Amino acid sequence: MTENRWERARELDAADPLSGFRERFSLPEGIIYLDGNSLGALPKATPERMLQVIEEEWGEGLIRSWNDSGWFEMASRIGGKIAPLIGASPNEVIACDSTSVNLFKLIAAALDMQTGRKVILSEPGNFPTDLYMIAGLEKQGLAERRLADRASLTDAIDGDVALLMLTHAHYKTGELFDLELLTRAAHEAGAMVLWDLSHSTGVLPVDLNAANADFAVGCGYKYLCGGPGAPAFAFVAERHHADLAQPLTGWFGHSAPFAFSDDYDAAPGIEQLLCGTSPVLGLAALEVGIDLIAGIGVERLHQKSRALSDFFLECMEESGLELELVSPPNSGQRGSQLSFRHEHAHAICQALIARGVIGDFRDPDILRLGFAPAYLRFRDMVEAVGHLGEVLGSGEWRKSEFNRRAVVT
Ligand SMILES: *Cc1c(COP(=O)(O)O)cnc(C)c1O
Repeated sequence: MTENRWERARELDAADPLSGFRERFSLPEGIIYLDGNSLGALPKATPERMLQVIEEEWGEGLIRSWNDSGWFEMASRIGGKIAPLIGASPNEVIACDSTSVNLFKLIAAALDMQTGRKVILSEPGNFPTDLYMIAGLEKQGLAERRLADRASLTDAIDGDVALLMLTHAHYKTGELFDLELLTRAAHEAGAMVLWDLSHSTGVLPVDLNAANADFAVGCGYKYLCGGPGAPAFAFVAERHHADLAQPLTGWFGHSAPFAFSDDYDAAPGIEQLLCGTSPVLGLAALEVGIDLIAGIGVERLHQKSRALSDFFLECMEESGLELELVSPPNSGQRGSQLSFRHEHAHAICQALIARGVIGDFRDPDILRLGFAPAYLRFRDMVEAVGHLGEVLGSGEWRKSEFNRRAVVT
């Protein structure tokens, strides 16, 4: 049986059109990395590009590089490269700040564009920062938070809802929302929509403009491989640019930052979402990741992502491994991850990490395995399932060293 699985993995790897891209990433020997959905792997081209930005552009060019090396346009240029990954036009996306900060700007902007509506509608269990950012605006008296379960979300969109704010692929379960359908439902009730694409960008095809979406945000350090704390991105549909007013009116979002005027005048386009000086080093690393991922192509990445996780489940089934799957069993209905519920998920995750299989744990009882298709092989699935079987079968996870919690899980 096991032989058979290895044989199938060999065939699948041999037929994999993306197999050549693995060597474009710097992956440690002996590690099976199932956490590219949390922090994408390091592209081999990144260190060289970073050295160039640091030594040549910063070290030699000094302040001249804002003009000579295109630092000033970097946020827009990189936004333009993210755009085709999410079905946006290049002038609708900008790379800046963190996802959290971008959420704040866009929620506030949506509230400003709506009259007489204050409710921000989301679902319980959405990614914490998304819910916390609403709470902050609520405390300022600007917003009112309303949460409704998936099943009752559309019913909860009434005339008080200013903005429907959801995460396309759920961080914990991988469940997908129908982006087009919910956008339409919100619009029919006069609400706007803000999509968090953190777990979608670079691995799931998304078409914001086909869905007529209003706003979106997403993360640079997950599937886009931009590096820890990479700048995030924000999307605003072009039809809203003229009426947009976001509250973090810093000088980089000014129509003429170097006029040093006393009065704020927002830039006309997507650049009005900028606040302070762009983080050039972070953007430089992010651009390398985006170039690599965009070059592979989201459709192909998505196909392979589905095949990898389907094969993982097949291997589990063949090994008689029974864990409660909380992700949708149909790969067309989930993001690029599989999540399993187990009372001792944390200890199991730690035991796997000790064996070189890096996944993660999400409180209170979820073992989450991410399948970044740009650098994973089918043979990794067989091997990871083998380790999982041994960890569960032997009760290895019971060891005390696997039952201690670090700050970051
Ligand atoms: C990862 C993630 C974030 C991250 O926000 P930061 O501001 O980068 O810390 C936000 N929302 C979702 C849904 C995420 O998955």
